[in-house]
Amino acid sequence: MTGRVLLGLLPKSAKVFGQVMFGGRNLLDLTETQFNEIRGREIAMIFQDPMTALNPVLTIGMQITEVLVRKLGMSGAAAENEAVRLLDQVRIPSSRARLRSFPHELSGGMRQRVVIAAGIATRPKLLIADEPTTALDVSVQAEILQLLTSLRKELGIAIILISHDFGVISRISDEVAVMYSGRIVERGPVRDIYHRPRHPYTQGLLRAIPRIDFTDEWMPTIEGVVPSAIELIRGCAFAPRCPRRRDECEATLPPLTLTDGRRLNACFNPVPLQ
Ligand code: SF4
Repeated sequence: MTGRVLLGLLPKSAKVFGQVMFGGRNLLDLTETQFNEIRGREIAMIFQDPMTALNPVLTIGMQITEVLVRKLGMSGAAAENEAVRLLDQVRIPSSRARLRSFPHELSGGMRQRVVIAAGIATRPKLLIADEPTTALDVSVQAEILQLLTSLRKELGIAIILISHDFGVISRISDEVAVMYSGRIVERGPVRDIYHRPRHPYTQGLLRAIPRIDFTDEWMPTIEGVVPSAIELIRGCAFAPRCPRRRDECEATLPPLTLTDGRRLNACFNPVPLQ
């Protein structure tokens, strides 16, 4: 949902508050025509399932060249050559021949590479990657993460990676924002958050990661369930599940405040620093 806000893709009935600052401009102030200039060109998105993100009845070549023709005004021949270069860049072998392939003729990892190629076609400043490795097995996941890391360096783009997988996040990110029930509850450098979580939800998430040296019969979990998105919550949304809750937690929304230098935390009773 947050990624869709950044791309201006929410339905007209949606109410968006606050600011989305990008290149010195608040994106929420833009008209639809102005947003169209930015969407897909300066900000692009990789959706989580490459099989549904790609059109099954169009070839890979048609789907990549469409971006180049529509967004960069390239001619057909130039767009085809550029599509070949992009497929090379995302390490797809026999790239020119692959342009004639349909999505179902490629493996899951290859399809995700195609989606990434279409995403970087316009050399965006920001790439939003929504669970880009969820549908892939572990070894292909590692290859895609490696690809995103090297593209980030080669092209100088910023990546917002949306993921439930802390392992993936810790491999690729500099900074992490942990969200619960639609709000950021903790934010800071990924190493700090990973090794010294301050928010009880972040701590619970990290404890629930399976460890190779784990010997107990039961894996740690966070008790309870996530509140419904339509439930109106006055205080901290995590309170019913929080082992550190206090009386004020259920009555007042904890503000996101700066703690420990570069870190932000929204909690009245954070985990003490060790
Ligand atoms: S504000 Fe209270 S309920 Fe919410 S996470 Fe912090 S201690 Fe727990």
